[in-house]
Amino acid sequence: MARSVQTSSNFRDALLRHLTYTMGKDPEHAQPFDWRMALSHAIRDRIVDTWVASTRKTYEQDGKRVYYLSMEFLIGRLLEDGIFNLDMVEEAKEALESFGMDMRTILDDEPDAALGNGGLGRLAACFLDSLSTIGCPAYGYGIRYENGLFKQSFVDGCQVESPETWLQEPHPWEFERPEVRINIGFGGDVHFENGKTVWRPAEMIQAEAFDTPIVGWQGRWANTLRLWAGRAVDPFDLDLFNSGDFAAASEHEALARTISRVLYPEDSNEAGKELRLKQEYFFSAASIRDILRRFDSQHNDLKLLPEKIAIQLNDTHPAIAGPELLRILHDERGLSFEEALHITHHCMNYTNHTLLPEALERWDERLFGRLLPRHLDIINRIDDAHYKANPHRTLSARSDGQVKMGELSFIMANRVNGVSALHTDLMKQTVFKELNALHPDRIVNETNGVTPRRWLHSCNPALSGLITETIGEDWIADLEQLEKLEPSIEDQGWLDRFTDVKNANKAALCDYVAGVHGVNLNPEAMFDIQIKRMHEYKRQHLNILETIAHWQEIRDNPTADWVPRVKIFAGKAAQGYHFAKDIIHLINDVAKLVNADAATRDVLQVIFLPNYNVSLAERLVPAADLSEQISTAGKEASGTGNMKFALNGAPTIGTLDGANVEIRDHVGKENFFLFGMLADEVMQRRMMHDHAQQAINADPRLGRALEALRDGTFSPEDPGRYTHIADNLTWSDYFLVCSDFTDYWRAQREVDKAYQDRKAWAKMAALNTARSGWFSSDRTIHGYMCDIWGAKSLIP
Ligand SMILES: *Cc1c(COP(=O)(O)O)cnc(C)c1O
Repeated sequence: MARSVQTSSNFRDALLRHLTYTMGKDPEHAQPFDWRMALSHAIRDRIVDTWVASTRKTYEQDGKRVYYLSMEFLIGRLLEDGIFNLDMVEEAKEALESFGMDMRTILDDEPDAALGNGGLGRLAACFLDSLSTIGCPAYGYGIRYENGLFKQSFVDGCQVESPETWLQEPHPWEFERPEVRINIGFGGDVHFENGKTVWRPAEMIQAEAFDTPIVGWQGRWANTLRLWAGRAVDPFDLDLFNSGDFAAASEHEALARTISRVLYPEDSNEAGKELRLKQEYFFSAASIRDILRRFDSQHNDLKLLPEKIAIQLNDTHPAIAGPELLRILHDERGLSFEEALHITHHCMNYTNHTLLPEALERWDERLFGRLLPRHLDIINRIDDAHYKANPHRTLSARSDGQVKMGELSFIMANRVNGVSALHTDLMKQTVFKELNALHPDRIVNETNGVTPRRWLHSCNPALSGLITETIGEDWIADLEQLEKLEPSIEDQGWLDRFTDVKNANKAALCDYVAGVHGVNLNPEAMFDIQIKRMHEYKRQHLNILETIAHWQEIRDNPTADWVPRVKIFAGKAAQGYHFAKDIIHLINDVAKLVNADAATRDVLQVIFLPNYNVSLAERLVPAADLSEQISTAGKEASGTGNMKFALNGAPTIGTLDGANVEIRDHVGKENFFLFGMLADEVMQRRMMHDHAQQAINADPRLGRALEALRDGTFSPEDPGRYTHIADNLTWSDYFLVCSDFTDYWRAQREVDKAYQDRKAWAKMAALNTARSGWFSSDRTIHGYMCDIWGAKSLIP
């Protein structure tokens, strides 16, 4: 894979060529948009060279291919990522500057590709980056949503959603593949003809492929992300048109396109909607066809399938891929059911992402049978086969009138994995307890990770520069080398530089917030950040209650020696999740009052930044002093936000939940602010009927903060606005906000104390960076390749 040897003046020529001939613009009149497109095409050309070479090599070597099926890919921007991965930052900057353009302006012009809700989709994007960096032949398969995750804005402090329109401008990173179109059937019935089972669907929708090359570090390898878009098989009914019914003539097309129109905005919540099931089958079935077509082009013995391909199901959303592969092997390719099942089982693997009961996918059998009648038969036979082999009633994929996608995935899969050590343990003890007893070797753990290219090297160039200067640049593709920083941490001069980097990142965030939102943040204060989807289990309300109590205490004694803090929040709530939206409203109302309070505003500020997405995370993470990871123990499967912060030198205040446990083990318990109940204590405590009242009675600070919600302190124009939140916390409090409040308060005061000793704090922050190397998604992918896929790197 020869690296491009063009000189920077050649790159300048390439940029100008694309501006002129791709965009049709004269440099004199070109807008930032035109320059962005020209630059994207110039960068893309380099990526395509690698891409073609990687594909050739995979065919030549007949390497095992990994197929990562995911309903979501939360990619973010691609131009900056491409420039950094190709190591062309200086070249690109110089070329733009020679035309009088500023690179930052051009990069910020790109809309985020927000084809995901949160952690699950972002994990898929980090995995693509790592697969390409490692050189493992792989394809991501998903849906090309026309509208990604909604845009969030605030009106009077309330969340307002508007459609996201990333495809309204031309998208320079994808290649449309009109020659790859696959018809996907729905509904209809099943016949038995000439000894064969035949499914005759009632409706057909065409899936059209769009490919995006994903380049790895230093452009050594590139894989493909293939996203499917819905099209009508027969886009236009000429008879209807000629008869004058113009609307009906295009109706097919409109209906078919709705299948890839929107991303469902529910994170960790299963809605059971028909369109969602259609989306799941649509992209899973198209992907399976595509996988088999590629296999057939090189092989003619289906028994080789498990040797040549590995399929990973990112949660249960693509679980129907299992019965679909089985159906094709048995009904269409003529293998016996047993043989088809055996082959399918050895190709499929499943990642579980949640233990929340409301997030485990289940489909009403009638709905399922109406859309996928043959698949329902097949699921019955899978269940029967499993039952015969392991007589055990409770374990079926189909029961109580429902199809259970978790059980189905487990039974189908060769390997099932959790995403952190604690989560994998809890999986074995709870949701998959009985299945695990039957198949004790099936469950494995692969703790999540994040790509160091995006989440350190490109989002925090100043820190990346300092690290490279100290230990060389090999850490970018071998993150555990960060431990070589440890000796430097003992050197006060080096530590001061580390602190300077953090301060510069904070100043840059202040400029951004002042420019975009007109709020001046105190750059001397501790930046305390909680950014993630809004969910009760993530407990943003615990954070804001502590903030309220803290504010009340400062008001009691305004002249004491308070440690200045800025509390920063960001995150979207699903449209229908009213409680989560009310918490956003509350945080905004608290911010309004607190930021205007002359008695406290020098030491406490609160801000909720709208429209949390990958690019906003890239701004916030490098500027954080403190990372809030405060979910109810046992509820966060892993978290990846926690890893981004630790890597960028922000110690965590957190519970022993998800990957926090492993982060604490790696960075050292003295560099982590632990609080709260453990997962088993949570289960115990919940059995107490009055756990919340007891906690409130025992802690007057908590009582007073709740009282401020009840008496309309934060909503004088509508005093009853937050009564229901106080009531919920007092009388039900499923997520144990009250029971963890006192210990959270204690931990926050320890944070205050620690922050006052700035030298000790800097050391703690730097140790978080130096010891977070294990949380690279490269390490995670090596784990999957070795324990689950049996795949190899093709980079020599
Ligand atoms: C990393 C990331 C997440 C996941 O954050 P958690 O704190 O692990 O829930 C969600 N959304 C975006 C945009 C991210 O970058």
